[in-house]
Amino acid sequence: MNKDVEEKIRERIKSQYPFPPYQSQLDLSKDIYVSLAQGTKVQMYMIVKVSIFESPTGTGKSYALIEGALNYLEDIKSNTLIKVKQKCQIDDGMPDWFNEPDVELKLNPLRKPNENKQQKKHVKLVDDDAIFDYSSSEETQINLRGQSLNDKIIYCSRTHSQLKQFINEIRRSKHKVRVSTIGSRQQLCVNQSILSKANNNVNKLNHLCKSHKKQCSYYKSLDTLEQYTQEIFDINDLLTASKKCQSCPYYAAKELSLQADIICTPYQLLMESIDQYIEPIIIVDEAHNFGSALLQTESCEVSLSQLNIIVGGIDDYRKKYHQRVKAKTLYYLNQLLQLCKSLIDKIKTKQSGSLITLIDFMVEIGIPKMNIIKLIKFLQNKEMRQRINGFIDSSQNVTHYSSFECFCKFISQLILTSQKESILYIEKSNTMKLSKINNYSSFQTLIDKSRNLVFLGGTLQPLNEFEIFKERVDSNEFIFKEYPHIISKDRCQLLVINAQLEYSFKQKNENLNQLMIQTNSLIQDIEKCIPEGIVIFMQTYTFLEQFKQYAKSNNLQFSKQVFFDEKQSSQILEKYSEVAKKGAILLSVVGGSLSEGINFSDHLARAVIIFGVPYPNLDSFELKEQININGNQYYDNITMRAVNQCIGRVIRHKNDYGLLFLIDKRFSEDKLRLKFSTWLQNRITIQNDFKGTNFFESFKKIL
Ligand code: SF4
Repeated sequence: MNKDVEEKIRERIKSQYPFPPYQSQLDLSKDIYVSLAQGTKVQMYMIVKVSIFESPTGTGKSYALIEGALNYLEDIKSNTLIKVKQKCQIDDGMPDWFNEPDVELKLNPLRKPNENKQQKKHVKLVDDDAIFDYSSSEETQINLRGQSLNDKIIYCSRTHSQLKQFINEIRRSKHKVRVSTIGSRQQLCVNQSILSKANNNVNKLNHLCKSHKKQCSYYKSLDTLEQYTQEIFDINDLLTASKKCQSCPYYAAKELSLQADIICTPYQLLMESIDQYIEPIIIVDEAHNFGSALLQTESCEVSLSQLNIIVGGIDDYRKKYHQRVKAKTLYYLNQLLQLCKSLIDKIKTKQSGSLITLIDFMVEIGIPKMNIIKLIKFLQNKEMRQRINGFIDSSQNVTHYSSFECFCKFISQLILTSQKESILYIEKSNTMKLSKINNYSSFQTLIDKSRNLVFLGGTLQPLNEFEIFKERVDSNEFIFKEYPHIISKDRCQLLVINAQLEYSFKQKNENLNQLMIQTNSLIQDIEKCIPEGIVIFMQTYTFLEQFKQYAKSNNLQFSKQVFFDEKQSSQILEKYSEVAKKGAILLSVVGGSLSEGINFSDHLARAVIIFGVPYPNLDSFELKEQININGNQYYDNITMRAVNQCIGRVIRHKNDYGLLFLIDKRFSEDKLRLKFSTWLQNRITIQNDFKGTNFFESFKKIL
């Protein structure tokens, strides 16, 4: 895009900020806007843009995203962008159609000109049971009716609390947009009788809702959404509005999302909901977690006991209904039964703990001889699944409701995946696990179904998993940009201490005591020089516990109050925060609950200390395979991304300041040192011993 146009866009965005933005924040907003404007997919044009923006924690990137994306949405709807470009009277390199008068119509060929977007709210529910039933033309129609004709942004983050924060930021802005939030039935179902029958079983809850919703009074009250009068809904707003009118917030959210400009969803629900919108813009925040969350969502397992239940259930179903169901249904049920029995046989005969070659396995259980396309369609038929699920549930004396769902997911994934993308193995607990190790197909789906993909995060480098996008789009359609930190060099420094003993993952017992002595001595030396709060990250909970025991048995004394993170307790942070101003130490774990998303601003963390390089445990099959495929660098990359996350805790805004200590000489070697976030590279000092610091001298007046 031409520089003059970009400048106009920057000015316009700046005027919309409710506060003076940082320079890098404004740059990011402008870049997001430009990226959305250029990355458009329409008819003959297949210009999908994948943009990856890294801006350090504390630089206001979420708000930058809001201004960039919402200004774009407003402009594309009011054609302001075109007017700006016409005023500049230049050829900006955009495709011709972009300059035509009704860009909005062009971008969305299905939209009628002058379509009134402020139509009275009405209910036009998408029957999610029907979405996957490709064979029914009637149901396909329902799905198409449900598809949105608006320019839409799907905003994803890891948790609902992060989505809530994002929505609160939108509320601060001057923009008038409609925002809805997608949640699961687990979060949004309000029918107590269904909830108690489901007994916390997600699959059962889904099944009960789908099969009983027509009798559910909350569902019946959905004939109007008049009570949902707000423009912006987070998950709590949905629940509050539903209370007023005694209607179902789960289905209301679906309907509201069809009318919304922005749909907020946790990562796990993205792939399920993407089909309901026409080529949405997808924005993924805190994207460092995205790849692993998708891998987890798409991995599956099935146990011997579940398979035995399914065999019994399908057998009983066939016996009872063989004269009433179609021959085709019986045919596929027989195939499923055969697969089920083969899996039982394999689990019993294969050695647990060893990898199984996918191709060989599929041949052994007879998949190549089956019509797999039709079998997949059969498995995806939700009505069939519900019937058999219900039958298994009521025919068995015990509640093993999710067995058949797990089995269907397992077989579908098994057929659709490849050796490069998944691994198969048997766990000790007589469970066969199909674990996704790469996101090739999910990322391809995102490219195919979205109009534009934007990934945003504070610590995205090393970019290993995003390389998949690079391979799949043209080089000019892939952008990576990073932004400087807003704080000056004198406000944050990083010290690598080449401590004598290495914090190796598996400590020999004879070294452990020496390591404890070294750890204690360094903490004692450092804490004397640091005012207020210190947050320490150890490699593992095991090592943290060992140090806790060592401190207890040796009656170690520190000048600050000490708190140890406990996996199960959420109150430690609260207790630490209450006294951090006076001086406190919080010990936690890299990758633990306190290492991400916690705002340790100001006195809560004047120093962050990381003991050891937190390489993940190599016992995991998944990790070994990922390293096999992607090389050793992958191992370093995921480790350093976790380190960069912890580092991001120390500086949270432009007036913040603090020191970072990394205790392990491996951090000073190029292969790891070069993987620190770019903004840190010129702030690194390497020392063999900690010799004290006068870093805080200049801040004493403030303290
Ligand atoms: S319709 Fe809504 S309230 Fe009723 S069972 Fe389903 S999710 Fe629960």
